[in-house]
Amino acid sequence: MNIGIVGLGLIGGSLGLDLRGLGHQVLGVSRQDYTCQQAIKRGVVDDASVNLTLLAAADIIFICTPIAAIASTVQQLIPHLAPDAIITDVGSVKTPVVEAVAPLWDNFVGGHPVAGTERNGINAAVSGLFKNNPYVLTPIDSTPLAAVKVVEELVHSLAATVYFCRPTDHDRAVAWISHLPVLVSASLIDACMGETDPVVLELVQQLASSGFRDTSRVGGGNPELGVMMAQYNREFLVRSLQSCRDSLDQLIELVEQEDWQGLAQRFQDTQSQRSQFFPK
Ligand code: NAP
Repeated sequence: MNIGIVGLGLIGGSLGLDLRGLGHQVLGVSRQDYTCQQAIKRGVVDDASVNLTLLAAADIIFICTPIAAIASTVQQLIPHLAPDAIITDVGSVKTPVVEAVAPLWDNFVGGHPVAGTERNGINAAVSGLFKNNPYVLTPIDSTPLAAVKVVEELVHSLAATVYFCRPTDHDRAVAWISHLPVLVSASLIDACMGETDPVVLELVQQLASSGFRDTSRVGGGNPELGVMMAQYNREFLVRSLQSCRDSLDQLIELVEQEDWQGLAQRFQDTQSQRSQFFPK
C-alpha cells in the first residue's frame, strides 16, 4: 500500500518503521525539514517533505501530530487527496477529534495505539512499539465499513491487539488507566517534595528505589502530554480524580482509626483486583 504519515515523531516515526518493514511504501510529512531528513536517514520513510502535496497518491494517511493540530492538518490535507483515500489518526483522546474530523472526511476512522515511551520526536521512533499492545479503533455509525476493515487489517499487521469502542467510552476508559495515573504519580512526587526537613528530604531522595521509580515514572514524563490529557479529556479526568480522592480519604480514615482489619481487607481486594487488569 501507499501509506502517508503526517507528524514524524515517536508514534508517526514508529509506525513508519513498522509499515516499511512490512513492505509498504511510506511517505512522511512533518513540520520541520530536520525531522524529514532524519526520517529518511533513519529509514522511517521512503520519502519525506514539509509539504502535504507529497501525500497526493496515498491510499491511507495516519495523522500523528499533537491532538491540537489533528483537525487543522486534515483540513489542509483534503485538497490534495484522492476521493477514496482513508484518513486515520492516533490521538490519545477520541471524542473531540472524531467530532471535528468526521464531518470533514467520510473515510475517517479514529484510532489510538495504547503504546508509548517517555521520549518524543523523530529520534524516539522505534520498531515494534505496537506489538502486543492494544490499538483502539473508534468508528461511528457513519464510518464506511470498508475503511474500518482497511485500518483494522493494517493495525493487525503491526501485531497489535485491536479493540473497537465508541469515542466516549474510549475517553472514559483512558481517563482511568492512562490519564488518572499521570496525575496521581505527579502528585506523589509533589507530595514527597513537600517534606520540610532538608536533611530528611535528601534522605528521601537517596533511598528512593524500585517502588518509587515505578510509581513516579508517568508523573515525571513530558509536561505537554499531561496538560493535553487534562485539556481534551477534562470531564472524565475530573470524575476519576474525584473518585481517587474519595478512595484516598477512605484509606486515611482506616489508618487514622487504626482499623487494620479494614485496611487488610482493602489490600486483599486490590491485590486480587489487579489481576483483572493484567490477566495471564
Ligand atoms: P511527538 O513525538 O512530539 O511527535 C509529534 C510530531 O508531530 C513532532 O515530531 C512534530 O514534527 C509533528 N508536528 C507537530 N505539529 C505539527 C503540524 N502542525 N504539522 C505536521 N507535523 C507536526 O509526539 P507523539 O508522542 O508521537 O504524539 C503524537 C500523537 O500521538 C498525539 O496525538 C498523541 O496524543 C498520540 N499518542 C501519543 C502517545 C505517547 O505515548 N507519546 C501514545 C499514543 C498516542 P516536527 O519534528 O517536524 O516538528
